[in-house]
Amino acid sequence: MDLNNLTIKKFHKGLLGKQFSAFEIAKAFFDYIEEKDSEIGAYLQLTKDLALLRANKVDIELAEGKKMEILTGVPLAIKDNILIENEPATAASKILANYRASYDAIVIKKLKKNNAVFLGKTNLDEFAMGSSTENSAFKITRNPIDLERVPGGSSGGSAAAVAADMAVAALGSDTGGSIRQPASFCGVVGLKPTYGAVSRFGLIAMASSLDQIGPIAKTVEDAAILFKEISGRDKLDSTSRDIEYGDELLNPKLENVRKLRIGIPKEYFIEGLDKQVSEAINLAIDSLKSLKIEFKEISLPHTKHALSCYYIIMPAEVSANLARFDGIRYGQTSDVNGKMSLKDIYLKTRGEGFGEEVKRRIILGTFVLSSGYYDAYYAKAQKVRQLIKQDFDEAFAEIDVILTPVSPTAAFKIGEKIDDPLKMYLGDIFTIPANLADLPAVSIPVKKTGGLPIGFQLIGKPFREADILGIGQFYEKL
Ligand code: GLN
Repeated sequence: MDLNNLTIKKFHKGLLGKQFSAFEIAKAFFDYIEEKDSEIGAYLQLTKDLALLRANKVDIELAEGKKMEILTGVPLAIKDNILIENEPATAASKILANYRASYDAIVIKKLKKNNAVFLGKTNLDEFAMGSSTENSAFKITRNPIDLERVPGGSSGGSAAAVAADMAVAALGSDTGGSIRQPASFCGVVGLKPTYGAVSRFGLIAMASSLDQIGPIAKTVEDAAILFKEISGRDKLDSTSRDIEYGDELLNPKLENVRKLRIGIPKEYFIEGLDKQVSEAINLAIDSLKSLKIEFKEISLPHTKHALSCYYIIMPAEVSANLARFDGIRYGQTSDVNGKMSLKDIYLKTRGEGFGEEVKRRIILGTFVLSSGYYDAYYAKAQKVRQLIKQDFDEAFAEIDVILTPVSPTAAFKIGEKIDDPLKMYLGDIFTIPANLADLPAVSIPVKKTGGLPIGFQLIGKPFREADILGIGQFYEKL
């Protein structure tokens, strides 16, 4: 069975055409993962029993002549900060090493309704904090294209699983680039939806005003399919919205896509941008010009403040969200004999359970929120966030979509940046603004011959995923 380049679309056709059964495919994936994942390390745990049970159910329903939804039987990988009932959910942290989810995330509920199959939970930077997946408490993940390099992060396991054909598609989460940057590094497609397009209920929170769950897939079309199925209003997430994503999401029309004007922000083509990246971005622009799409230079003047703004707001929210891991309510406790004082339980459990990067951000976050510093840092960062949003609002009066690089470099070497947090943070410069401004953004691999994969980013107006995915789908067909 050829799992290479198996897309959602191809799987669906094959299943309906009885070229294979859902069970056979799931089994083939597990055999392949067993062989391949020892060198890559994309998965933290496989959910084999659940997957085979669900695949079997699909085959029975198919034989009974039940209607098969587009995701029915599709083998997916799920980032390990998204809850699947009764399965482990570690967020790649020691503090949750023995935790099992007691309920399904809403995205999982939706996928279960569709009869999708979950192969396993994928590796990430601890609590999604990082850009290389090297911050996982359990293991590193290697880039399938070059095993000496990182797959990006924090959704590095999901991106690597899809790139290495160890899943048809995957879910990741994106707070400051964690879907788009690993997608770019691994040569796959990654979509961060508009804030509020997808329910966050059942996602282990990092920074709640920035987090979104989104798809990682082999094609833009697959990303659109998966996005459509997981989006929508959910009463358990009051920030989620009901948007009717119509037919244009999956069947964009060229005449409509041609009407979209693309802006190129000059602030994104800066010193420090790798030559291979700028060359790749120019290739993508040239291809899109051949579709007769209009381009225009624009300015997003507050871009230079995005990184510092993010690295204040994000840790502030991290410090609040991670307060719940206290050795009493969730997961691991250091109080093995039940004799420790409350304070010692907190200190010891958190001291032993969290990794270095997580601690760094909790300390930063409590600092910027503390009395005396709140106004100088946190309140100011909130104002800057507004200015960054305004930049986009003003730009979107003239253009419809913004094209930028995803990351200043292609995948870097394992170990290259791990001892220098600032250097690691700087790499997030192009992905962070879309989170701060709540906007949808997709990373699409540039078509080129040779070299490491490099993605370009399309940022859209709020809830206009159809625009960026529409352009992407035509780019793919070129
Ligand atoms: N790399 C960014 C960070 O370290 C983004 C993480 C994310 O999107 N979850 O915060």
